[in-house]
Parts: sequence; structure tokens; C-alpha cells
Amino acid sequence: MSNIILTGDRPTGRLHIGHYVGSLRRRVELQNSGEYDKIYIMIADAQALTDNIENPEKVRQNVIEVALDYLSAGLDPEKSTLFIQSQISELTELTFYYMDLVTVSRLQRNPTVKSEIQLRNFEASIPVGFFTYPISQAADITFCKANVVPVGEDQLPMIEQTKEIVHKFNAVYAPESPVLVEPKALVPEAEACKRLPGTDGKAKMSKSLGNCIYLADSADEVRTKIMSMYTDPLHLQVSDPGHLEGNTVFTYLDAFACDEHFERYCPDYANLDEMKAHYTKGGLGDVKVKKFLNNIMQEELEPIRNRRAAFEKDIPEIYNILKKGSEAAREVAAQTLAEVKHAMRIDYFEDMELIRAQSERYKELFRNNASI
Ligand code: ATP
Ligand code: MG
Repeated sequence: MSNIILTGDRPTGRLHIGHYVGSLRRRVELQNSGEYDKIYIMIADAQALTDNIENPEKVRQNVIEVALDYLSAGLDPEKSTLFIQSQISELTELTFYYMDLVTVSRLQRNPTVKSEIQLRNFEASIPVGFFTYPISQAADITFCKANVVPVGEDQLPMIEQTKEIVHKFNAVYAPESPVLVEPKALVPEAEACKRLPGTDGKAKMSKSLGNCIYLADSADEVRTKIMSMYTDPLHLQVSDPGHLEGNTVFTYLDAFACDEHFERYCPDYANLDEMKAHYTKGGLGDVKVKKFLNNIMQEELEPIRNRRAAFEKDIPEIYNILKKGSEAAREVAAQTLAEVKHAMRIDYFEDMELIRAQSERYKELFRNNASI
């Protein structure tokens, strides 16, 4: 079996460090590992429209931002196919057929959809497109027969939904030789990276909540955001014992710090455990910890920022990359759609046996009628 990756992001804003640790960093590693036959990275504009219909221009403007973030983080169009969801019309066809395999109550039980409905105040009137986006996500994953989907933890219910659709499709339409491939989610191992909190300490860093450190932020913006980050409200004096739980600065250190960082920027401690021990005992101030985090973040983000500046010089070329990627993705989607329609037996014009059998049936009827 081929090893194929699909993943993507909604163009609702620039990408942030939550995307980076949750999925983007891993994608670049997987891309460069050489272990994958194909890697598809999708800018999910059609999905973003499902809850941004009052502001389609936001989605349109952010396609290029996400593409620039991809390239500056190290995704390489020579190795990965970067494409725009709305340009692959086969995806909507697949979605339509998959809808027959899912019940409304199953969608209502999806915990991610539930919490996103709440977040967007959609309780009273949910757009049908938004409500059914887990089904369209199944089309995104299956069109290229992806078996690996690197995502943050919030996406696990979506992958579960896709698995169910694949299972049902194969069972109903292709029991002898399965057409669709069941995907596996690849969630970061480190707890902190699964769902990175926002700088305000809120549950999840999210473009829609405005609590983000963006990959494209300037060095000054990053520093200002870090220095005003949420820590421990009970840690008023340096000498007070500090708490780690819900302390966003330490969560970010969990996601980014390694022992070499201590050597370079904070040699008082050998590693994060030692720093945490001092903090919880009392005697370590938030400012020192924040400055350390800032050094690490600047080191991580500077090369990304510099690459971005270079890519920003030739915007038409970025659209060209996306166009080529979309054309390549579309060819693959057309092939899968043909297989799906064949399995569903709605490929009438390719089915010579059907045409022959119907023709025989009518000839037979005609003969019988004639002989009466
Ligand atoms: P929106 O608010 O528009 O939904 P978002 O910030 O949640 O935007 P998405 O485009 O929905 O971003 O998510 C893209 C990918 O990044 C998904 O795999 C998701 O799991 C991952 N991701 C998003 N936010 C985080 C986070 N804070 N921590 C870890 N992974 C994240
Ligand atoms: Mg999201």
C-alpha cells in the first residue's frame, strides 16, 4: 500500500505557533523523511466559507497568507502538492455521495462540531454547509487515498467520522475490493503540542479567538506578546511558589524548549525540569522565564520570517505553485471519483454490460409482444 499524507488549514488568518507545533512542523519533517509516496497539503477555503459567509473576502485574502506560511515553514512544492480545496470540484461530488452514509444524529454528536457551534453562536441557526463539514472533510481525506493525516487533537473526531464513512462505503458498495482507504490521525506526542493554548491562557490558540502568536509576527510583536502572557495569577512576588498548571508560558516551554536552549540562553538550569522545580518552590520570577521563552521563540521563528520575506517578493509565483498543485490534485480526485461511481454503479456510459443487458431485455419484450 502507498504511504500518502493529506492535511490542511482553513484560510481564516495567518498560521500561528499552534498550527506549527500541532501539525505544520511535523509535516515538514515527514516531507523531508522521504518515507511518503505523496503529500497533499490543502488550503480549505470552501470549508472556511461555511462559517464565514458574511466575510468571504477574509477567506479570499488569507489563501495567499497560508500559502506563504507553508513555504516559509519549509513545505517544498517539489515534494508536496499544495492546492486549494475549492478548485477540486470532484470533492463536492464525493461529499454529496458520502452524505447518504451519515445520519444527522451522528453529526450532532461530533464533539468538535458541538464546541465550534457554541463558539460561533450557531445554536439557533446552523448553516447546513457548516453542519456537514465533517463529511466534506472525509472527501478531502479520501480523494487521494491518504492513510496518514497529521493534525492537532481537535481534529480526532473528524478522522473518526472519515473512518466510519470509508468503512460504510466499502461495505455497501465495494465489499469485494475496497475502493476507499481508512486514514490514521497523527497527533503530536507532546501533550502541550496537541492543543496549544492561546497567549490569554484560553483553551486553544485559534485564529478566530485573536490569542495567537503568528509565524509572520515581527520580532517585536513576538516579544510584546510573550511579555504580556498569562502565567500564574497567584505568583505575585518572585519569592512566591508558582503553579505550572494552566501556566501558558510553561506550556509553551513544554512545546518548544530543549536542553540546548538552556545551555545557550539560561545556563542556571540544565533542563526544563530544573527550571520548573525552582518555579514551584518560589524564587524564580515570571519575567526571567518569559525572556527565556522569547529567546527560544525568536530562534525558531527568525528563519521562518526570513524565508517569508523572500517568498513575498514574487506573489504571482506563489499563485502559480497553487495552480499547478490544484491541477495535480484534481487529476487524482477525478480518478478516485471514477472508481467511486463505478463501485456505486452510476457509471452508466462506461458500463457496456448494462447497456447490452438492457438492450437484450427490451428486444426480448419486443419479441414476446410481437408473438402475442
Ligand atoms: P479556525 O479558528 O478558523 O478554525 P484554527 O486556528 O482552529 O482556525 P484550523 O485551520 O482549523 O485552525 O486548523 C488547522 C490545523 O492546525 C488542524 O490540524 C488543527 O488541529 C491544528 N491546530 C489549530 N490550532 C491548534 C492549536 N492551538 N494547537 C495544536 N494544533 C492546532
Ligand atoms: Mg479550527
